[in-house]
Amino acid sequence: MENNPWIRAKKQLNKTAREIDFPQLLLARLSEPERTITVSLPLTLDNGEVKVFEGFRVQHNNILGPYKGGLRFHQNVNMDEVRALAFWMSMKCAVVDIPFGGGKGGITVNPKELTEKELKKLSELFIQRLFPVIGPTLDVPAPDVNTNSKIMGWMTDEYIREFRSKNNELGIKQPEEMLRGVFTGKPIEQGGSEGRTEATGLGGSFVLLKSLKLLGSINPGMTVAIQGFGNVGYYIAHFLDKAGMKIVAVSDSKEGIYVEKGLNPEKTLSCKKEKGLLSGCYCVGSVCDLGNGRKISNKDLLKLDVDILIPAALENVITKENAQDVKAKIILEMANGPLTSEADEILNKNGVTIIPDILANSGGVATSYFEWYQNMNEEKWTKDEVFEKLQEKMEKVTEEVFETQKKHNMTLRDAAYALALTRIEEKWSSAKQ
Ligand code: NAD
Repeated sequence: MENNPWIRAKKQLNKTAREIDFPQLLLARLSEPERTITVSLPLTLDNGEVKVFEGFRVQHNNILGPYKGGLRFHQNVNMDEVRALAFWMSMKCAVVDIPFGGGKGGITVNPKELTEKELKKLSELFIQRLFPVIGPTLDVPAPDVNTNSKIMGWMTDEYIREFRSKNNELGIKQPEEMLRGVFTGKPIEQGGSEGRTEATGLGGSFVLLKSLKLLGSINPGMTVAIQGFGNVGYYIAHFLDKAGMKIVAVSDSKEGIYVEKGLNPEKTLSCKKEKGLLSGCYCVGSVCDLGNGRKISNKDLLKLDVDILIPAALENVITKENAQDVKAKIILEMANGPLTSEADEILNKNGVTIIPDILANSGGVATSYFEWYQNMNEEKWTKDEVFEKLQEKMEKVTEEVFETQKKHNMTLRDAAYALALTRIEEKWSSAKQ
């Protein structure tokens, strides 16, 4: 039960709503998605066989702006999970103060079983079916599990083709750059933004550094353990290392490495690329500057005596079974939902500061908003401009979450939700008048 994400999401919503005296009508509206769309996708495979796939899109709410959230391709996508993910997108966009609501969707398919040609046809067909309910000012999807910038590029082109074929004869013309705002996470040459690749990790590093300042506990050489060494795990390691922290452990799905004197994230990444996995990417008795290290299991990484623990891989990795073993005093949730609600309670009782996912990893969606903004305004920002705007946004939002925490004397997680709900309520109330 504790691991059902939709039940957990609603529990969090109800708890925060009670604490801030939230309007019942709006609570009822946010307790279910506004729209759930299911589409049928019959596809002719390369061998001539016809196979029917199912696709869907959950649009949670659009009070602050167009629905926003990823599209995933996975063989056992679960509706409760997608509903919860769409809800979390609503909360994340609200807390980071961008004019988007929440959405999520995908296709029930194992993309590894399709050829590239089949995958492209399936992606295009999905967009033909979703065409009436998506658009730059309606619903703006993005990459998620098993989808990437290339797929976003195919989908954007298909959306533009559909738009032109349906609107040209009506005389409706819109600049192509604006139409590209229908998806984010696109390749740069197809309207994507500079800096999106680094954004989630970089945003997390801004949130952490600002939080440490506000907590009055920033020290040079603070030790950090990171579970996961993919896009998010690598970039947060890279930026925290640059900020003077000591990254002592990282892991992938197989296992992790522990280097007491601190590892070099770039060299670790090249080693991982060369070997195909992290295992052995430490140097026992050698002169390379990764330092002497050892292997560590993913379970043991979570129990390390470090200053900061960063789960950056999967959901539900800290549970009531292992929460008592966590020694870090600060947890930065870069993965979505890495703590079960029971683990959250135990860690709070133990005095651990938990910087919640909807704040910690919102640098990704903030930069997706920058991409959309550039498309809609026919602008092109440099990477430095994107990073500067991201820093400003993440630091401001972190301050606001800490202020809300003080005002209501609540945890940072509750404060992030309270801030998100307050922003939604303000817009909702002003729209009613
Ligand atoms: P990724 O696929 O690039 O990397 C995932 C990493 O986790 C890999 O290193 C993989 O080996 C590791 N991993 C997989 N199973 C594991 C296990 N059982 N134990 C330990 N490690 C394991 O994914 P990502 O984009 O880095 O996303 C990581 C997390 O961050 C996810 O929860 C994702 O939802 C969240 N997130 C990502 C973004 C983004 O912009 N990429 C934004 C917000 C949240």
